[in-house]
Amino acid sequence: MEKSSLQEQYVYRLARNNALAHAYLFLGNDTEKKKEVALRIFQMLACVHHDKEKRPCHDCIPCKAIAGDRFPDVLHVQPEEGKEISVGSIRKIATCVSFAPYASSFKGVLIEEADKMNKTAQSAFLKILEEPPGNALFILFSAYPNLLLETIRSRVQMIPFYQFSPLALASQRTGSEIPRVFSKLEQSLLKDRFSFAAEIAESQVQSLAFLQDMLGYLRVVLFEEVKSRGEILRIRRLFSLATLVQEAIRYIKYTNVSVRLALEQVMIEL
Ligand SMILES: [Zn+2]
Repeated sequence: MEKSSLQEQYVYRLARNNALAHAYLFLGNDTEKKKEVALRIFQMLACVHHDKEKRPCHDCIPCKAIAGDRFPDVLHVQPEEGKEISVGSIRKIATCVSFAPYASSFKGVLIEEADKMNKTAQSAFLKILEEPPGNALFILFSAYPNLLLETIRSRVQMIPFYQFSPLALASQRTGSEIPRVFSKLEQSLLKDRFSFAAEIAESQVQSLAFLQDMLGYLRVVLFEEVKSRGEILRIRRLFSLATLVQEAIRYIKYTNVSVRLALEQVMIEL
């Protein structure tokens, strides 16, 4: 099963059970998939089909309006080509969520390339996140979550969406089995990866051994990928994961950063 579909099932289940958190950050480079999932979530919430199980029906007025990006209770924010998201856009969001929903029971806000919010915009957005209106649902996209304020990241649920998993790719390329533990992690939800991280973080030695293994493995795969002239996007993705793992090792060895935090950074990017 594709990892993305696992993530999707997870959020759809939450949407169906009215159990969504008020803010999500969709990570990763699969923009098409992120858009598809975000719109579907909004549709599930707004759809008026009488059978709940059949929502979204894609046929009612709200479903169609959301698909066409013209639903009055969903605000879609994205930076203009090459520009930042300014504090003006964030003010629009604040105004939007301060009014009661018009055609549904929620207010949806989608922010694409959220990392393009400049500093003032991020601080303004943080204020909204600190006291979110009860019926608001924020979905942020970012391929570079480290550019977002830590205080924003800690208030959103992160869900990764990648076009491919470097670890799954690794096994295709090398023909070798993915070490079982990596394969299991790669297919796990973020919260399960975090529990795994919490578990091994109890021992610094164990954490370092785990990261060294992963780094060794990624290096072999990266080498194979470069040698066989693989896709540049894949190579970049593998390279950035390897760099991240290397950084985590360095943090754990030489700084006071919490072992668990360093491991979690890696878990997000798997
Ligand atoms: Zn519908």
